[in-house]
Amino acid sequence: MIEADLMSNDLHFMRMAIEQAQYAGAAGEVPVGAVVVKDGVVLGVGCNAPIRTHDPSAHAEIVALRAAAAALGNYRLDGCDLYVTLEPCAMCAGAMLHARIRRVVFGAMDPKTGAAGSVINVFANNDLNHHARAEGGVLASSCASLLHDFFAQKRAEKARLAYPLREDALRTPDRCFDGVPDYPWAPHYVNDLPILGGLRMHYLDEGLSGSNRTILCLHGYPTWSFLFRKMVPSLVAAGYRVIAPDLVGFGKSDKPKKPEFHTMAFHRDSLVALIQSMGLYDVVIVGQGEGSELAKALEQAVPGRIGGVVALQPQQKNRSPGVPNRPPDAGAVVAEQVPHLSEAERFAYQAPFVDAGYCAALRALHPGSKTAWPKASHLDTTHSATALTAATLAQVGDFLPEAGDEVAQKLLAHIQA
Ligand SMILES: [Zn+2]
Repeated sequence: MIEADLMSNDLHFMRMAIEQAQYAGAAGEVPVGAVVVKDGVVLGVGCNAPIRTHDPSAHAEIVALRAAAAALGNYRLDGCDLYVTLEPCAMCAGAMLHARIRRVVFGAMDPKTGAAGSVINVFANNDLNHHARAEGGVLASSCASLLHDFFAQKRAEKARLAYPLREDALRTPDRCFDGVPDYPWAPHYVNDLPILGGLRMHYLDEGLSGSNRTILCLHGYPTWSFLFRKMVPSLVAAGYRVIAPDLVGFGKSDKPKKPEFHTMAFHRDSLVALIQSMGLYDVVIVGQGEGSELAKALEQAVPGRIGGVVALQPQQKNRSPGVPNRPPDAGAVVAEQVPHLSEAERFAYQAPFVDAGYCAALRALHPGSKTAWPKASHLDTTHSATALTAATLAQVGDFLPEAGDEVAQKLLAHIQA
């Protein structure tokens, strides 16, 4: 057989093995498939089935070997080739030697249990093996992506079960955040605070968890914790633990469908519960827009826990009223005041709001809506509440945290003063 024929046969039979792997995956088993071939004729196929059959030996290769041996009426499979989507384990490699398989062709490598070179190489041991030669890497990326997708789906399913979604709410799919720039942080979720009633709330938690210096960053309309991405590294570098929640209805938090949900009392109480459940004391709250209103409300609600409030709220500008009943484009709203915003950043602000159904919070807190929270024209100066205004900071409209390190340094100087 000339080389090109061999290659095209390998591709043909590996595709059959991939089909078997897909059957396994569809049945909830790890997607691995195998076929046994003699003289171009398929004698047996197998898909991985240990869970369904309560059989630890029911790997795809063993299932295919059994089928081929039954078809031949012989436990020796002389002259047979075996195709499998994943590098065989030691058990399967041993069975292939016993069956006198001539040639083993596999797809993806298995760094954890592979016995054809990854962990051990049964086929290279001449004391054990006088028959089979093993070759890997045929359609390797297709075989590997089957496994990769399968495990990604399992993880997503597990996360979904851990945080079931309420019927009156929506959850932005993780993939919508794939292109978000400069936001490398692991998500943290909470859904067991009674006030949340099962809604999943997302927050960033960076820096030393043992640090007794905590800064709580609160975004407002129409942003999410992404707003603080440029400040977080500076604050962490200065030794602070930085916690930045996405208010319910925003960012990676669940989104109740009804605008009436978004009262200041609900958001205040959910943040009080978060602060209490995390055991935070002496927290400095940095708020922007509605976030600074919430910060002041928190200071009144749990004064013993709040060490200070910094409202990043320059003089109010008139925001464009938008079109009634149509949710505003969050990216466009920020871009109006932050002229250097890139396309990717604009996209990131809009990412949580997949379609109109996800936008109840935007509708509720839209400056023109009747549910919008009242805005202080100037900040109440309680004993600790202070405002860093546009006069003392770089002018980037309502969205000061966008100025990044510059604001962070002035903020730190302010807190530490
Ligand atoms: Zn195996």
